[in-house]
Amino acid sequence: MRADEINSIYRSLVRGSILIGLIVAAAAFGVAILLNRAITNPLQDLLVAVRRLREREFGRKVLVQSTDEIGQLGKAFNELSETLEELFFTISDREGTLDTVLSSMDDGVVAVNMRREVILANRAAADLFHHDAEEMIGKNQFEATRNEELSRLLEKTMDGKDSFSQEMRLRPGSERTIAVTSSPLEDQHGKIQGAVAVMRDVTSLRHLEQMRQEFVANVSHELRTPLTSIKGFSETLLNSNFEDRALSERFLNIINNETDRMISLINDLLDLSRIESGKQPLKKDAVDMKRVFEDTVLMLKNKADAKGVTIENNIYSPVTVEGDEKLLKQVALNLVDNGVKYNSEGGKVWIEAEQGLDSVEFIVGDTGLGIATEHLDRIFERFYRVDKGRARHMGGTGLGLAITKHIIDKHKGTIAIESRVGKGTKIRITLKKKTEL
Ligand code: ADP
Repeated sequence: MRADEINSIYRSLVRGSILIGLIVAAAAFGVAILLNRAITNPLQDLLVAVRRLREREFGRKVLVQSTDEIGQLGKAFNELSETLEELFFTISDREGTLDTVLSSMDDGVVAVNMRREVILANRAAADLFHHDAEEMIGKNQFEATRNEELSRLLEKTMDGKDSFSQEMRLRPGSERTIAVTSSPLEDQHGKIQGAVAVMRDVTSLRHLEQMRQEFVANVSHELRTPLTSIKGFSETLLNSNFEDRALSERFLNIINNETDRMISLINDLLDLSRIESGKQPLKKDAVDMKRVFEDTVLMLKNKADAKGVTIENNIYSPVTVEGDEKLLKQVALNLVDNGVKYNSEGGKVWIEAEQGLDSVEFIVGDTGLGIATEHLDRIFERFYRVDKGRARHMGGTGLGLAITKHIIDKHKGTIAIESRVGKGTKIRITLKKKTEL
């Protein structure tokens, strides 16, 4: 074979190889592109969807184009995404309901984990400890509540498996009392995970209980004094065989007076409980206070004359208020009677009325003994007397002003007192005017 023939065969072989190489390379490129489309693109889509899921974007689905593994992966992902979405909304719903229940509770709720960190606190608990509920979460139980006793109770609960109830001060030296029930928090295997404390502010309850006890003690004391004296004098009378008529008469008079005192005490107590109970609805009649005070002055005239005290009614024209005539008569009587009772020879009691737009202010003033400033805050309390001996001697029960205040409160009016020792006292009450229909 000639050399140029060999060369020509060689060249065509080289060309053929290059062509085959190019075809193979093009095919490989094509396969790579196809593979990229079939595998990488769905995987990238999946990655994007997973990232969105992490951001709680549940609606996003991946496109399933094949039935191979990649297609099955996409389908499984879509199903998982749906289940997660349902689960998420169920949990959110439950959390929302729990939040609503907890925040509408009047009782404070605080839950802690075994690391003694607050994991849950409702609005009422936050109010008790003057915090923001969110602020309490994650804090140490003592740091969040500043209550050592409460922390100790939670510790005790986590140590054992029992619940405990205890009353304690909100803080050392605080006036407020809370009743706490602490129970362990257990997982489904019964393992303790922390504790939950439910707290109720029982301050007003305890205060009421104390008031009730004081009230019973006061009533018993008030009744015991006249009863002891009645018993003493009647025994003496029985032993004396009524030989000394004058002495017997004096003793019987004392017994009679003490009985009167007990009757007025019982009557005052009954009035007070009737007004307080609210069983009788308040009448809303048109009451002319000019007439009410005129009747009062007439009723007390003899008593005032006997003491050398003058009463002046400076209300000259009818003043009509809305209220219960019987109760308002009692107010007028209590106030004018006190003005006479705590006065001295030559003293004066006066009554005035000042008309406002919707209300009228009545003033009952006197030039009597007056009341020292330190007593004024408590003067409307039941059984509060400035000078116990003196008031009792004057037949006072210590209930008159308490009854008066109750009646005025029921009428949604106001009552205030000003007084200076040795100068006199002024009581101001305001009542709603009766408007013509
Ligand atoms: P009491 O039945 O003892 O009069 P009140 O509730 O009416 O009870 O009054 C309470 C106390 O307030 C009285 O015991 C008296 O010490 C004092 N007080 C009330 N009104 C007057 C007044 N006008 N002047 C001086 N002291 C008064």
